[in-house]
Amino acid sequence: MSKETMNFQTEVKQLLDLMIHSLYSNKEIFLRELISNASDAADKLRFEATTDDALFEGDSDLHVFASWDKEARTITISDNGIGMNHEEVVSNIGTIARSGTKEFFGKLSGDKENDAHLIGQFGVGFYSSFLVADKVTLTTRRAGTTAEHGVQWISEGDGKFTIETVTKTKRGTEIVLHLREDADEYLNDWKLRSIINKYADHIPFPIRMLKPAAPAEEGKEQEVAVEIETVNQASALWARSKSELTDEDYNGFYKHVAHDFEDPLTHVHQRLEGKYEYTILFYIPKRAPFDLWQAEAKHGVKLYVRRVFIMEATEDLMPRYLRFVRGVMDSSDLPLNVSREILQQSPAMDAMKKGASKRVLSWLKDLASNEADKYAEFWSEFGSCLKEGVIEDEKNKDIISSLLRFSSTEQDEQSVSFTDYVARMKEGQDSIYYITSESLASAKSSPHLEIFRKKGIEVLLLSDRIDEWLTSHLTEFDGKSLQSIVKGELDLSAIGENVEAEQKEHEEAAKSAEPAVKKLKEALGDRVKDVRTTDRLIESPACLISDAFDMSGNMERILKQAGQDVPSVKPILEINPDHELVKRLSKMRSKDKIADFADILFDQAVLAEGALPEDPAGFVRKVNALLITQ
Ligand code: ADP
Ligand code: MG
Repeated sequence: MSKETMNFQTEVKQLLDLMIHSLYSNKEIFLRELISNASDAADKLRFEATTDDALFEGDSDLHVFASWDKEARTITISDNGIGMNHEEVVSNIGTIARSGTKEFFGKLSGDKENDAHLIGQFGVGFYSSFLVADKVTLTTRRAGTTAEHGVQWISEGDGKFTIETVTKTKRGTEIVLHLREDADEYLNDWKLRSIINKYADHIPFPIRMLKPAAPAEEGKEQEVAVEIETVNQASALWARSKSELTDEDYNGFYKHVAHDFEDPLTHVHQRLEGKYEYTILFYIPKRAPFDLWQAEAKHGVKLYVRRVFIMEATEDLMPRYLRFVRGVMDSSDLPLNVSREILQQSPAMDAMKKGASKRVLSWLKDLASNEADKYAEFWSEFGSCLKEGVIEDEKNKDIISSLLRFSSTEQDEQSVSFTDYVARMKEGQDSIYYITSESLASAKSSPHLEIFRKKGIEVLLLSDRIDEWLTSHLTEFDGKSLQSIVKGELDLSAIGENVEAEQKEHEEAAKSAEPAVKKLKEALGDRVKDVRTTDRLIESPACLISDAFDMSGNMERILKQAGQDVPSVKPILEINPDHELVKRLSKMRSKDKIADFADILFDQAVLAEGALPEDPAGFVRKVNALLITQ
């Protein structure tokens, strides 16, 4: 095939620009990224070779080789891993095949610091070569193809690349970086070794370099280096004992395994023993990756069997609601030379997945009790994900519920657990009260909270979209029922002081408001399911309630926004018999006036839910008419 010139996907160009100006002072990570890719390629080959030995082409000594050339101003990183064919080069190098990429780049602001964080969510990968190089030549051949199937890819990082078929005798990938003017510092043996030590010590394959030549003796020619040595530990980090590992070791490995360039929030490293034995090394990232909410989010936990990479990021390893966990599981029990499909169906895999999820949950529990600040950070990034667990993982529902955090009328910052709430419950209170709303602000200002404020009863303020589903699956915690304060009748009569006197007062007020109730029922007709008095309102004249088993107004709005065709559920209008407007309405005679009044009361209640009246302009007109008659 002749030489072809192709363009990078638009997002790749954007990524390159962003990277070059936001990672300017962190250029050395290019080496980490290239070695990380080489290691992944070696992993993939070793796995494929378990069922097809021929792929090794007689050379199973998997390794990475790093070299440099002062004269030519190049650094070369080569591996004898899986390599790529023509099609793979085009789709892997030059495009970013992750859904949501376009939206992600749309969010970039041009603000260096902010964008640098975003890039962390994204990962930089191969393109980081252009931090130090103004031209990159990648030559590769896929294991199992013949020498004339080599592919050469060349780019100057300017938005296009050339690609052509070449001969490559050795399988694997070789990357030559032609260094930029200002990247001289990397043409140095000591510098390269120190970067490898810093970032790639934990890579489970040997990284080799030429041994530096001894300085030339006086009067003699400088000797040419020929001896090769391994410059990293080259053992699987998770298989080493905890006591010999530092935080730096753990963090370095995290960046490789998670394709992140920031340190993780925390990690857990343990050998799990039982019916099946396996080691886990799990991490929680500091920041949610940009595609956490995409159906096919890419990276997750990797499975190894006795250090041989098998597969990654599948729901066979970790349930979906724990998809934020990164790291590895290494089993000593699973068979090696069987297909992935057979492994996926084995009872051992299933048991490992269950054990690993349990371990993650207990790890989170420890984090919550011992490192509250870190847990809060975790919660703000991944809390919504964990909530899915209540719905998905019936068996672990209790522990997951105990890990949930909410805002409440007592504490804003999504920091209230059910346990905290229960400890603060009033005497006589036997339910956990919550309100679901579109935003924290609208939850907070809801008229439904008035009586709770008066009685000093805490209410959880739920404004995450998933909360509607969460509360439909979670009906109690620790024997206390969860009760929405916007649904069904409310009976707080057992809580507080002077309950009997209050009850009596309310009954009297309700009686006096009967005419108003009647007029409203007539005027509103079938826009409402019912009109009734309530004692839940103190300052507001009216509010809307859903019937106990109906969908809440918030849920209806969420579904409609998502384009679903849901039937409108009629609300119940509850009115405050002590409110001056209600008293006036009771006395009102003019039919027209009553109709306007009823409309206004109803629409006000809609507004108080953070929603829009059906006819906003009509609402304004009626309010203005009333103001003028004042
Ligand atoms: P990531 O490693 O997060 O997938 P990169 O940008 O680092 O992203 O690499 C993109 C893809 O290019 C890899 O997923 C892999 O398929 C391919 N690739 C990169 N380097 C190599 C290599 N040395 N050998 C084989 N494939 C490679
Ligand atoms: Mg990579």
